[in-house]
Amino acid sequence: MKSLKLLIFSILLLIVSGLNAQNTAKYVFLFIGDGMGDNQIYATEIYKASLQGKMTPEPLVFSQFPVQSYAITTSADSWTTDSSASASAMATGNKVNNHEVGIDPVTGLNYKTLAEKAKEAGFKIGILSSVTIDHATPASFYAHEKSRGDYDKIALQIASSNFDFFGGGGVHSLGSIDDKNSVISSLTNNGYKYLTTAKEIENLKKGDTKIVAVNPGTYSGKEFYWEIDKNPKSISLAYFTKKSIEILDNDKGFFIMVEGGKIDWASHSNDLASAIHETIAFDNAIKEAIKFYNNNKNETLIIVTADHETGGLTLGSNVSKGLKLDLLQYQKVSAQEFERSLSQLKKLERKVSFEEVLDSVKLNFGLGDKEKGLELTKAEKKWLLEAYENEFVALKKINPDRDYLDHYSKKPLALRVVTILNTKAGIAWSTEGHTASKVPVKAIGVGEEYFKSTIDNTEINDIILKVMQISNKQ
Ligand SMILES: [Zn+2]
Repeated sequence: MKSLKLLIFSILLLIVSGLNAQNTAKYVFLFIGDGMGDNQIYATEIYKASLQGKMTPEPLVFSQFPVQSYAITTSADSWTTDSSASASAMATGNKVNNHEVGIDPVTGLNYKTLAEKAKEAGFKIGILSSVTIDHATPASFYAHEKSRGDYDKIALQIASSNFDFFGGGGVHSLGSIDDKNSVISSLTNNGYKYLTTAKEIENLKKGDTKIVAVNPGTYSGKEFYWEIDKNPKSISLAYFTKKSIEILDNDKGFFIMVEGGKIDWASHSNDLASAIHETIAFDNAIKEAIKFYNNNKNETLIIVTADHETGGLTLGSNVSKGLKLDLLQYQKVSAQEFERSLSQLKKLERKVSFEEVLDSVKLNFGLGDKEKGLELTKAEKKWLLEAYENEFVALKKINPDRDYLDHYSKKPLALRVVTILNTKAGIAWSTEGHTASKVPVKAIGVGEEYFKSTIDNTEINDIILKVMQISNKQ
């Protein structure tokens, strides 16, 4: 009898531990599409379908995840969050103020992040972004700072995190104003390798640790080039994701955060074609995680979400003409690169005529091409002429190498061109900033059921820690 009881007890124990095992994920991916609301995703799906002449959207890989829900994004001090407050909420499980990174809004004390807790628990950690790794979203997983703009101070916290892999964009500067090399020396003093060539990145292998791998193809600000511009020097976010999986794969497990940072930047510029290409690149990175998931289904969780929506994107703003996203295929360059080509034209000795600028607009955006259905109206030409006179006659200086174009003042010529094309495609933007919309949350794998109803973005932290069986204590 005693042995029978013991047997039943053992069986029960096995069942219970089996159930627990079902809810335990050794490998967790958190993909954050910065500024990626429902309509940035849906526009990409309609665009892909339109190019094939289809009338049903062509779903991105993460749109096919079994769980599709939403997250509330309010910050501690605003209904409309910024990236640092939202990423900090996901990373720490606590609401923080806009522009602050991982600190208590009242006491100013640090909140420990889920990545820090996972590292302490023995998991390997990877932080990837297509913008700089000291930018607000990635920073929120390892740094604690009163102001997200204090890049020098944030970059110094990369080395002290002891995380295994940082990849994608670089850091804003390699040192502080006082010490031009302080970030690099902090990294090397703590055993990190700072890699900047394609060869070095390619040579990375399983088990390598304390790596900062920077895309050799970036702007001077160290963020990726625009996907739409297809710069041959650039390594894709998908490649960095694949490489991070290869390096971090181990029996204990890992946590990898991947940010598609420039969906937000394109949306701030109200440049839909560029946002669509960034979203496709982000989807390609997720495909790499799916490949890993397919081989490790019982131990992997993939979450895809956004920190906030940017731009208040509306699909179908033109009642009579409808939605024609296929017209965006004629945009061959990002607004930023177009503005750069204009600034090159401005440097010529001779006078650059308005007609010459219009030719370039036609070549790069199809605008003015009757056969493409993209004729310019008188009013549109007049609006472009005004910007031309501003930039080419009055010689107003516009710097295309800023984080993103000067979108809070009068639109420069490149952004006017993009606006005209977007309007003809039947889309509109309500703001050049963030909106307070809920953001999509999509999940597949162990613990996906925790995302079935609308959650607060802080719960992303709670759920990840729960499935990784890590204590949520500070
Ligand atoms: Zn953001």
